[in-house]
Amino acid sequence: MAQTQRLYYTDSYLKEFTASILRTEDDPRGARVYLDRTAFYPDSGGQPSDHGELAGVRLLDVVDEGEEVAHLLASRLAGDAVQGNIDWARRFDHMQQHTGQHILSAAFERSAGYKTVSFHLAAEISTIDLDSDRVGAQQIEAAEELANRVVFENRPVTVSFHAAAEVQKLDLRKPTEREGEVRLVEIEGLDLSACGGTHVSRTGGVGNINVRKVERAKGLTRVEFVCGGRALRRARQDFSILSEAARGFSTGLENVPEMIAKLTQELREAGKLQQKMSEELAESEAAQLWQQATEKNGARVVRRLFESAESKRAKLTAHAISKHAGGVALIGVKGTPAALFFAQAPGGRANLSDVLKQTLAKFGGKGGGSRDFAQGGGLPENQIESALSFAESLLS
Ligand SMILES: [Zn+2]
Repeated sequence: MAQTQRLYYTDSYLKEFTASILRTEDDPRGARVYLDRTAFYPDSGGQPSDHGELAGVRLLDVVDEGEEVAHLLASRLAGDAVQGNIDWARRFDHMQQHTGQHILSAAFERSAGYKTVSFHLAAEISTIDLDSDRVGAQQIEAAEELANRVVFENRPVTVSFHAAAEVQKLDLRKPTEREGEVRLVEIEGLDLSACGGTHVSRTGGVGNINVRKVERAKGLTRVEFVCGGRALRRARQDFSILSEAARGFSTGLENVPEMIAKLTQELREAGKLQQKMSEELAESEAAQLWQQATEKNGARVVRRLFESAESKRAKLTAHAISKHAGGVALIGVKGTPAALFFAQAPGGRANLSDVLKQTLAKFGGKGGGSRDFAQGGGLPENQIESALSFAESLLS
């Protein structure tokens, strides 16, 4: 087994290369192709693998097997010399995010002493976890500020190889346990890390570094960030969303938050007013219905059916009827499924919980309540009138 020469170690800008096939092994997904050298980056260290083509065939995956790099293809390749072509847009995006991560992690450590305990590069966003859950907004801003200053200064990012024993004496941001030859990535005057990933050659290539979201949990702070092309796309998205909101409110972008606060307040007040008016309407309607109902054995039973959209009003009316002496409300609401509200003045003769239970047992549905107020639903709409007259028959 020969070690695969990793071309991206010394030239992360290599987009195509030629190599010899050393051997091919069977794989459940097709074939694993081993080359003498490769520029394809395998999934490792938080950075996802490259996409691309080998001899014109799309790669399914690139796997780091320690000494070797395996290229997963749907089938074996003919011949022994192949050309590899890297999906450069994806790779360059990863280089921006990954180098940005070095810079941002170092910036958090420099500006506030927080250490990065893990890094994840996903399709849309990247995250680092800092070793404290007390990272404040000001510290985030200071780190973001420093990180972007390092970008603006366009500092060189250099790669060098050292013996492990030698590396132990150096001041790495994070100690390494790697043995043999260790690859170090240095961002001038900011960061020295052992890393096998792909990076841009100068910090200016990272583009803007923007923190997007901060979550604190279990002694850690997770910082979501985007760099370069992603930062540009997200900024465009933000602008488009904010512009749409501003158009909706017929105001300028900067007035959107104030507008939302104002409308939310107005909506809350309108809701309160509506509730009050609904109650008043229900009360006056209830008074009328109660008056029209015939008194029998001290009770005045009001039977009434509401349309399906009037469920709230129906319930309010039921309660309002029960405020009148001897008032008993048997209210139905149309709809699929239909609903029932039974209410009576406190101390009324019936047990409405029982009345509801018996009604639902006969017509279907579920519900419950107390002696003086019970509600249920789920019975078929075409049964609702029969259910109400059945309930009334139980009262006498
Ligand atoms: Zn790195």
